[in-house]
Amino acid sequence: MTRVGRIVILGGGTAGWMTAAALSATYNKSVSISLLESDAIGTVGVGEATIPTIHWFNELVGFDEAAFVRETKASFKLGIEFVDWTYPGHRYFHPFGRYGVDLGTVPFHQRWLRAQADGLDRPLSAYSLATQLAEAGRFAKPASDPRSILSTLGYAYHFDAGLYARHLRSLAETRGVTRVEGTLTHVDRNPATGFVTAITTERGETLEGDLFVDCSGFRALLIGETMGAPFEDWSRWLPCDRAIAVPCTGIAETTPFTRSTRREAGWQWRIPLQHRTGNGYVYSSSFLTDDAAAATLLANLDGAPLADPRMLRFTAGFRRQAWLGNVVAIGLSSGFLEPLESTSIHLIQSGIAKLITLFPDADCDPALARQYNALLGRDMDGIRDFLILHYHATQGHNAPMWQHTRAMSLPERLLDKMEQYRRTGRLMLEPEELFREASWLAVLNGQGVAAQGYVPLADTLDGATNRKQLEQIETIISRAVPTLPFHDAAIRALTGAAA
Ligand code: FAD
Repeated sequence: MTRVGRIVILGGGTAGWMTAAALSATYNKSVSISLLESDAIGTVGVGEATIPTIHWFNELVGFDEAAFVRETKASFKLGIEFVDWTYPGHRYFHPFGRYGVDLGTVPFHQRWLRAQADGLDRPLSAYSLATQLAEAGRFAKPASDPRSILSTLGYAYHFDAGLYARHLRSLAETRGVTRVEGTLTHVDRNPATGFVTAITTERGETLEGDLFVDCSGFRALLIGETMGAPFEDWSRWLPCDRAIAVPCTGIAETTPFTRSTRREAGWQWRIPLQHRTGNGYVYSSSFLTDDAAAATLLANLDGAPLADPRMLRFTAGFRRQAWLGNVVAIGLSSGFLEPLESTSIHLIQSGIAKLITLFPDADCDPALARQYNALLGRDMDGIRDFLILHYHATQGHNAPMWQHTRAMSLPERLLDKMEQYRRTGRLMLEPEELFREASWLAVLNGQGVAAQGYVPLADTLDGATNRKQLEQIETIISRAVPTLPFHDAAIRALTGAAA
């Protein structure tokens, strides 16, 4: 069996350099890795909020957390605050980590639903340490001791996308990845197998390989243009197709969360970093002009803009054949699900993890590609449904886009999930879904999909004891919050920066 000896990565955005760093950390002894990127074309340059799966990647490539946070000007993220989504004036928080604590066989949220039925009038957020910390502008990392309330926390990062790519690049180059600068102008294929054999730049430089990773962004030059993998369009559910992004000066005390504010034809993000704040308005061009979107964004910044607004176009959707022949698409070339829940960098990692596990020999057994595509497809479908929920379950927004998303027909699986939750608070999740119970609970409940009852298992609880336990958990959380550091102090403590 001939092993893959040469990997060629096309593209040096976040996807390209994450792939280069991960593959060089895993296969650097047996494989040569080269990466082609074009300074003239540049990168998409956004993608600054992550979810807790990022820790898996950072461990894989061997990042030191303090150096990573220092060099990428990162801040901590405990979740996302959704402002005005459910109805005007409403706020809710989607936290990382868990609600309450595990006490026996009845899931915590079923205990809460049972207590509500017994007359308790406390919001779900009272039982989330991450939510309470975020509200207080404080931060702590999860504890490994399951007896500590800190063990219920989860966290991720916000970072500067340009600095992140630079950080990854220096790591990958140290491990032997060869970087070539130039613009792809020609692709050679084996006429018998259809496999890509080489890519050539405008200066005539040729990179030959056995396996090609397409990280060329929305252009999808190898997987789409060369191999012809079709794109599945999901804009009937996720109507936003443009974003205007602009950084502004930072705020006095950075918040340990991303803020997403609903707007007339989409939503606005606010991502606080150490040196600046990232902002963008994600909108649907069917319902809003570019000028109106730019004006709304610029009128709603926390500080002075630091650059001209930049417009990005996209279509929500995915290639079910992200691996075809000897080409594997990772990053935006494989699809994009809009940034509402910060899932793109996770999907890059997910692609990398699957590629490492299913790493082929030079013949690229099609069974491996089928498995890769099936697993990634399930990942994407689950995330898609979770995003659709945000757009669909709203009230009182009369702007045309929100009327459209309230009335649109939903994927069957999402309808089932909402119906089960409404009836008994039951969360019906597939084992491989990225977003787990706490996330669905936060967003269903936050977006006003209220559970009318609870499951039979919760009848096994003694009502008075259950209420008392919930009160105790709330007390433990509210006592812990003021003892934990403010967010900026937590960053300084890690990086060693002066106050
Ligand atoms: P790109 O950054 O576009 O890189 C493509 C690379 O291919 C570049 O190096 C380019 O030079 C190269 N290239 C292209 N054509 C050629 C050619 N002909 N020859 C040579 N090289 C070529 N993700 C998150 O996880 N969190 C977020 O908060 C988030 N926010 C986002 C907001 C918006 C508005 C958008 C559009 C995306 C967001 N994303 C987010 C997604 C995230 O930005 C991307 O997943 C990430 O940046 C990876 O992009 P990429 O590397 O696939 O593509």
